Amino acid sequence: PALMSCPQVQRALLALTVPLETLQAVKGRMLQAMRKGLSRQTHAQANVRMLPTYICSTPNGTGKTAQPGDGLLYYPQRRTPRWTWPWGCWGGVHQSPASYGVHKLPCTACASPQCRGRGQEPAPLAPAVVSGSQEPPPWVTDCPWDWVRSRFGGSATGQLYHVDVVALMNDTVGTMMTCSMGGNPCEIALVMGEQWAPHMPGWWVLGGLHWCSPPSLPADKGTNSCFMAEAQQVEMAEETSGRMCVNTEWGCFGDDGTLNDVLTSYDQHVDQESSNPGEKRFEKLVGSLYLGEIVRHALTALAAEKALFIGSSVAVLRTKDVLKTQQVLEIIDNEEGMAKARRALEALGLQPNERDCCRVQQICRVVVSRAAALCAAGLAAILSHMCQSRELEQLVVNVGVDGELYRGHSRFREILQSVTGLLAPECTATLLPSVDGTGRGAAMVTAVALRLAAQRREVDLLLAPLRLSRADLERVQALMRREMELGLGRETNANASVRMLPTYVRGTPDGTERGEFLALDLGGTNFRVLVVRVAQDGIRMASEIYVIPTTITQGTGQALFDHIIECIMDFQLKQDLMEQVLPLGFTFSFPCQQLGLDKAVLLTWTKGFSASGCVGQDVVQLLREAAQRKQHLGLKVVAVVNDTVGTMMSCGYDDPKCEIGLIVGTGTNACYMEEMQNVGTVEGEQGRMCINMEWGAFGDNGCLDDIFTDFDRLVDEKTINVGKQRFEKLISGMYLGEIVRHILLALVEKQLLFSGKPCPKLQTRDIFQTKFLSTIEIDGLGLRQVRAILQDLELQASFEDSVLVREVCQTVSLRAAQLCAAGLAAVVEKMRENRGLAQLAVTVGVDGTLYKMHPRFSQHLQQMLRDLAPNCTVTFLQSEDGSGKGAALVAAVACREAEPQ
Ligand code: ADP
Ligand code: MG
Repeated sequence: PALMSCPQVQRALLALTVPLETLQAVKGRMLQAMRKGLSRQTHAQANVRMLPTYICSTPNGTGKTAQPGDGLLYYPQRRTPRWTWPWGCWGGVHQSPASYGVHKLPCTACASPQCRGRGQEPAPLAPAVVSGSQEPPPWVTDCPWDWVRSRFGGSATGQLYHVDVVALMNDTVGTMMTCSMGGNPCEIALVMGEQWAPHMPGWWVLGGLHWCSPPSLPADKGTNSCFMAEAQQVEMAEETSGRMCVNTEWGCFGDDGTLNDVLTSYDQHVDQESSNPGEKRFEKLVGSLYLGEIVRHALTALAAEKALFIGSSVAVLRTKDVLKTQQVLEIIDNEEGMAKARRALEALGLQPNERDCCRVQQICRVVVSRAAALCAAGLAAILSHMCQSRELEQLVVNVGVDGELYRGHSRFREILQSVTGLLAPECTATLLPSVDGTGRGAAMVTAVALRLAAQRREVDLLLAPLRLSRADLERVQALMRREMELGLGRETNANASVRMLPTYVRGTPDGTERGEFLALDLGGTNFRVLVVRVAQDGIRMASEIYVIPTTITQGTGQALFDHIIECIMDFQLKQDLMEQVLPLGFTFSFPCQQLGLDKAVLLTWTKGFSASGCVGQDVVQLLREAAQRKQHLGLKVVAVVNDTVGTMMSCGYDDPKCEIGLIVGTGTNACYMEEMQNVGTVEGEQGRMCINMEWGAFGDNGCLDDIFTDFDRLVDEKTINVGKQRFEKLISGMYLGEIVRHILLALVEKQLLFSGKPCPKLQTRDIFQTKFLSTIEIDGLGLRQVRAILQDLELQASFEDSVLVREVCQTVSLRAAQLCAAGLAAVVEKMRENRGLAQLAVTVGVDGTLYKMHPRFSQHLQQMLRDLAPNCTVTFLQSEDGSGKGAALVAAVACREAEPQ
């Protein structure tokens, strides 16, 4: 009541109270500032720096923590205005972080036992890697190694430690790490004020062996935070997968004036008297270094207004730092507070009465409350940011908290918790106090770094056989070239793994083709019947998909072709084409020895077909016989076409340079225009002929055996054509998912994935579909989708699991694309040499869902091809329904040539 009556005190309290709407606005501005810090364009100007830490993982609770003797040195953070780098990092074991590949190894300083006796010291990191544009702090380049050695050389064990810096970390990160202990991941940390650390400041050796003080360091009384951000949003770090801890350095929030509506005249005085006026505005509101100062200025003003200490001299209040934050925190205590206030004021030589003490306590309370509320606004911004960027409706997360403000005061904690709840209602944050975040946190960082490094080594070992070097690919290219020559040679053809089958297609469309044609497409995922009208103004088509049950594809040949005729009849009926006899092009996408355009002997079934009585037979004849059995007389088969040829033809209609066809779908294959004089298996030397390479069988003679991995062998063993189509089994849609599945099983087996828990569903053949690779590898898609796919397979994937699964998919699809490029390189180089050109420009018509849908396949393929065949300019053109349109165009070209108009 005594307070209510004093308008000056009322005004001061009001000025120091931040209303909820303002807090809401502060949260919004913090969010904006964070985004500015994350973006590459605006990072340099950002107040909230959002520094990448390269810490991509928190302790998983199951992994080993660091052992005593894993020497760990901790170097506490320095904050002086000159050093805007709160920390930098070295790669451990004499490598730059970049060479760690996907998981960049983080920080902390480590006298790792493995490194003893190497006699080398880590090379300082290039400043660019430390981040930003300024000079790194002196100790990054100028680490006192001699000093370190003098301390640790001749230690208790009598051994000289060779110091390898594995990591250097920020205290905030340490807080987050320690709070992750015990299996509850902690993904945010706040530090408000000085942390409790028994050995601070100092180098610190894990295992309690040594600690000692380095050159003097200022104690840290600021505020800061960090959190696990989506790595892709951390544009300053070139990491796109997973998460990375970001050190917000939010103390400078408001330096551009965004907090001006919150600042009071007391804050302005504090700022002007500080060593860095105009800077660290947020820290000066929230950090423990300044709370005492704010109170001091408020009391000075109130005394001048005669609202306090009437009759006593208040000159002492003009001295900087006479009132400590610790005293402020004692004064706000409910029970002892009044007594503490009296003692503190009397110690300053003031003579406070009961009312003065009461008012001072009120001022202290409102200053501390404001700090807590502003901190809550910052925390709420982080929470909402995380919730949004993870595309969650609700975020449940643990927040590690350290600092004297938080530890010391239940009032501070309560306000922080409740205001955070109000400002980020979509998030549930559990605040966990951290104990010795700096020391133990540094240890945790190292433990995590060591765990990741060990894991990485094992993963790399497992995936190494799937990663092809340029030399490997050049060899594949050369082998393909050799097999092509063998396949073309009259004598050698029988022994070549690449059959190089003549197609009797001698020209690509010239655009003058006209007419109406029927087309069949057999050998893809679907069996289709089409009618294609080729006219002056373009090509129009109608088609129908028919299902061929496995009982038929793997039954008798008679049943298969009878079924096909029934489908054709059904189609003609529906399209009202029963009365006409249209020329028919038959896309038959299996290896055939073609003896003419309309005569094709099936060499072998592929892609899961096995109908009996067909191999060795002319498929056109089989079709005609079935037509007779069904008394369907209006059938005039003019051409059998492989789907690669159809693809080339359909693209050739639009682009005359299209002289190659490529399929990467269920299977893979290619065709191209070869000089007749090189085709030893067909009479005649004039012009060109399209050669159906049947390159899927490349390697069936063992020439690729050293490329195959154990995973490829496991996949092959379970196919219906063991040992056959070996190249195809490395590349095409029917197999990539299976390869991935076997790798995942091996990773689980080695305890590198899903915590090593058995995954019964993953044992099922074909359960991991190739289309999953496409989804999983899409850039910018949160790992949530990866998790969802894995969840469908009853796999509980942690975040790191998802990242690893993505890496496996990337490895498998990259290899497929690169092998495909090596094959194509052999083709285009041969064509270039055939034509005696220094430079060849050619177009490849491509079809196949894998090529078309996979987010990276075509890019990797084209990039590698440019690399392997630098003298060829290769354009890729996706075919629209190559098998249907192409078959009709082959028929049309044939009709054009038969009856010239
Ligand atoms: P086909 O080669 O049989 O004519 P497609 O070209 O449509 O047929 O290829 C089908 C194959 O493509 C399937 O075997 C499947 O493995 C693969 N596939 C399907 N969807 C996708 C996708 N989204 N990404 C990558 N591959 C896919
Ligand atoms: Mg197809």
